Amino acid sequence: MSFDLKKIREDFPILQQKIYNRPLVYFDNAATTQRPQLVIDALTRTYTEYYGNIHRAAHFLADKATLAYEETREKVQNLINAESREQIIFTKGTTESINLAAFAFGESYIQEGDEIIVSEMEHHSNIVPWQLMAGRKGAKIIVLPIDDKGRLEIEKLESLISPRTKLIAVTHVSNVLGTINPIKQITVLAHSRNVRIFVDGAQAAAHLLIDVQDLDVDFYAFSAHKMYGPNGVGVLYGKKELLEQMPPYQGGGEMISEVRFSGTTYNELPYKFEAGTPNISGVIAFGAAIDYLENIGIEHAAAWETVLLNYATDQLRPIPGLRIYGTQADKSAVISFNVEGVHFFDLGTMLDKFGIAVRTGHHCADPLMEHFGIQGTVRASFAFYNTKEEIDVFIEALKKVISMF
Ligand code: PMP
Repeated sequence: MSFDLKKIREDFPILQQKIYNRPLVYFDNAATTQRPQLVIDALTRTYTEYYGNIHRAAHFLADKATLAYEETREKVQNLINAESREQIIFTKGTTESINLAAFAFGESYIQEGDEIIVSEMEHHSNIVPWQLMAGRKGAKIIVLPIDDKGRLEIEKLESLISPRTKLIAVTHVSNVLGTINPIKQITVLAHSRNVRIFVDGAQAAAHLLIDVQDLDVDFYAFSAHKMYGPNGVGVLYGKKELLEQMPPYQGGGEMISEVRFSGTTYNELPYKFEAGTPNISGVIAFGAAIDYLENIGIEHAAAWETVLLNYATDQLRPIPGLRIYGTQADKSAVISFNVEGVHFFDLGTMLDKFGIAVRTGHHCADPLMEHFGIQGTVRASFAFYNTKEEIDVFIEALKKVISMF
């Protein structure tokens, strides 16, 4: 491994604490990651040294805050290799990015009777905004199914695309199964049929190198809080010709060019989609998180996470009655499972008493739960700061808990 795990763990103050007198084992990274000290410092520094409202800057503080805010936009542009900074829109998270895209794309491009393909493994965030839009426009949602390994049945995609299909909405990485979807392959097929593609990158951006030009996606969305950055910050990337056609999602300050009661004109990209005072300090601190992540190297982080995934999977598999959901070979460091005869909620609650943080429930993916005929799972999800020793603690605790039932 090419990074210093001990040093990395020291960067994260929250990981040093004890829960119920046991060292914290944080395996809920797919829900939200923890922050290194330098991201916390960046937040503090913004508020103590150069906080002011951005863009209408006639004074020193506002000017400095504006520069730092816009610097993060460039960092995001570089991170995902977007063609231009105008294509990076700051939102409050993936959810808002999807709502923005669904509303504005719907207004510009969707007619009654049109179809949007959504996969069966989507998070509710990548289902409901498209349903809302379909409801408003009289469009139809078509479901791309998955198989029992938790793999997208992309061989069925071609026959699901009709002359009325306008967009495919799909996640890059499943938050439940860990499945990494073949986005490039889907994009090539979609574009060959004149269909646009929206990718939910919430679970991908911290774990995969993203190149939106190489993937050739039309939209890509993600959240800073799953990338060791602050909560309340997200990104929507879009192809310029689409963003230019799309109407604003929210009205307010900054998104306008001129306001008249006889009619208002809108600002240029990306400001047309950034109404009101944004999360200034959060965006600035997100820049620090991107620097941190790039300094470690996403590819190094991902390699270690794969070691952890395989190490944990190998120890979970032999446990009697345990079933893992999501067994496609190409997967991210997320393990969802159930144990026969034990409710997932009881497992999670008991693991917590050992200082182990996992997530239980439907993981905002009801259709996926329905596919497997279950109410929920236990989910352990790893980040680069996790260790094999923590997995040993987790496996030992899990076996103890199971033996109690
Ligand atoms: N999509 C996926 C795949 C997710 O895992 C999540 C977060 N659990 C979201 C969307 C929503 O992200 P946020 O809550 O940051 O808006």
